Amino acid sequence: MLGFGPLNQNPPFPTPEELQSKLSEFMKSNFGDKVSFATFAQPERAEEGDDEKPVPQSGDHFVFDFLPRDIKAHLDRFVIKQDEAKKVLSIAVCDHYNHVNYIRQLENEDAVRAEETEYAKQNVILVGPTGVGKTYLIKHIADLIKVPFVKADATKFSETGYVGGDVEDLVRELVQKADGDVALAQFGIIYIDEVDKLAAASNMHGRDVSGRGVQTTLLKLMEETEVPLRSANDLQGQLQAAFEFQKRGKTKRETISTRHILFVVSGAFERLKTQVSKRLAQGQIGFKAGPVKVLDNEIFQQVGTQDFVEYGFEPEFIGRLPVRVVCEELTADDLFKIMKFSEGSILRQYERAFRAYGIEISFEDEALLLMASAAALEKTGARGLLTVWEKLFRDYKYYLAGSGLTQLRVTEELVREPRRVLERLMAQGQQQEKETLRLEAQKFADQFSREHGVEFGFDDSALRRLVERAVAERMKMNDLCAHLFKDFQFGLSLIKKNKGKQKFVLDRAAIDAPDKFLSELVLQSYGPGGDRPAE
Ligand code: ADP
Repeated sequence: MLGFGPLNQNPPFPTPEELQSKLSEFMKSNFGDKVSFATFAQPERAEEGDDEKPVPQSGDHFVFDFLPRDIKAHLDRFVIKQDEAKKVLSIAVCDHYNHVNYIRQLENEDAVRAEETEYAKQNVILVGPTGVGKTYLIKHIADLIKVPFVKADATKFSETGYVGGDVEDLVRELVQKADGDVALAQFGIIYIDEVDKLAAASNMHGRDVSGRGVQTTLLKLMEETEVPLRSANDLQGQLQAAFEFQKRGKTKRETISTRHILFVVSGAFERLKTQVSKRLAQGQIGFKAGPVKVLDNEIFQQVGTQDFVEYGFEPEFIGRLPVRVVCEELTADDLFKIMKFSEGSILRQYERAFRAYGIEISFEDEALLLMASAAALEKTGARGLLTVWEKLFRDYKYYLAGSGLTQLRVTEELVREPRRVLERLMAQGQQQEKETLRLEAQKFADQFSREHGVEFGFDDSALRRLVERAVAERMKMNDLCAHLFKDFQFGLSLIKKNKGKQKFVLDRAAIDAPDKFLSELVLQSYGPGGDRPAE
């Protein structure tokens, strides 16, 4: 009998995800870390406020048709300041993709010449502190020209690979971002942050060797190399390929070339300031003396390849990154402009968030200036804005949503004393809500009167009680009234028939016990004193 016995107590067959995790565990316990069932990491989530999703173009028909000034103009819409970086990046990107265009055309005409054409790729080093727009710039460039973009953190690399996979996974992630379009992925952009941490001299914790090792691995990637589409460690991928082969007798394209992938690396490169200061002190450069506190593009003019080598980079590695520019620190004034003028401003995000609760939020410039100063103190660039806004508006969202308030003006006072202003607004909101509820009750009475040919109304005590009950019972006023007075239509018409009485004004007691109120009225209507005798 199949319906009984141990068979039926077996767990159900695992889902594909469960199966994958069980197989991974099995592989690990039997073979250690050498093989795994790898899956690609989820694409990085867009920063808050960036909700535009680029529509990738098809790699087979990839076109690039921008001038540097087009790219700069696009960046100006989102990124405040960083003019030098915008300019330098716009040129580098145009040079890079114009070259791609050229080679693709040449490939059709003369494959050998296309293969042999020499070109120094315009890979970029972006120097600058955290939160000043480095990633934001690159992301918007990738969005504009519609190529996939992958960001990684250099500190997660080890000599043997990236945590959970290897460096080549970055290239495979590009394919994933391009929805499997390998032809498009090969024109993608790979962005590696915190690259300064790979510098040998700064590695006091035994990372000396591995920092250099990672530089070498990355160097290979930045030069032209073929990356297998399936990692050797990705058993699942390998099985899938075997299965495909079995089914079709051939497998799809196996590798992706890094020849046209643009690499951008970034980092704070803090020690560059000391290095330049030292040179200034030694009078090696005819520049204003004194220690360099802020590395701007003017000072950066003095930084050369040799400085990066002294910093702890392999000359070959730095040599593959010819385009170098600084993203400068953001002042409180810049942060103000970011809030007010950037299309990706957090301000618009909060406008949307409050609008979803039926509240129109608006801002006084003085309030924004105060918020900018508070954010600047965080020393995390524009990221400081997120912290300040979240802290300031958390309670506002919680308490004002559904409070009846429809307008919120963010004033200097609100930023200085958020708690006090919130309490005041909540009291106002409650008052507003009560007034709306009163009006709705009156509307119900008017409609009831019209529909049933009586004069039906509430006195002030009844209105107050109705409002109290609607708030306490979280009911819409119309629903509450319809529920309380569901029998009134028949009762009142009976009374009307008995006594000809047409005006009914309900008081507080009638709201608390409507049935009692109605039955007493009905009873009375049968008693003496009626305009008409009962039938
Ligand atoms: P990082 O320089 O560390 O890469 P990001 O580019 O990731 O910093 O910046 C974080 C967020 O701060 C961005 O998503 C963007 O919303 C905002 N932001 C940073 N810099 C700027 C800027 N210069 N102009 C406008 N917004 C900026």
